[in-house]
Amino acid sequence: MTITQHPTETAAVTGEPLELLRAMLEEQFVVQTNRLTELTIYGRLPGHGGYDPHMLDLLAAAARRSIADTAQALRRMSEGTYGHCANCRRPIPLGRLRSVPQATHCTRCDQPGRGPT
Ligand SMILES: [Zn+2]
Repeated sequence: MTITQHPTETAAVTGEPLELLRAMLEEQFVVQTNRLTELTIYGRLPGHGGYDPHMLDLLAAAARRSIADTAQALRRMSEGTYGHCANCRRPIPLGRLRSVPQATHCTRCDQPGRGPT
């Protein structure tokens, strides 16, 4: 396989770090899916398994969002666009991806209070 020298198609993260991030995302996907299943079961139990129903809704929504973000990150990996900021198109630093592998924005573009573009 040859790597073409096309700047816009060059993945920001490649090789071993990318495989590690992919493993992290896949694990996160499984963990969050199991969590959502668990929360759904609690929601159906009489007394909601001791949970506050409103809290269950919030937790389930957070798990669903996390699953969606993770699935999108995995899709970007297969498309080769993973690791680029969706706003400024610059590569997202590897350190940030290690702590937030599903990040879609670089640290500068992900400031609180900044709405989605
Ligand atoms: Zn950016």
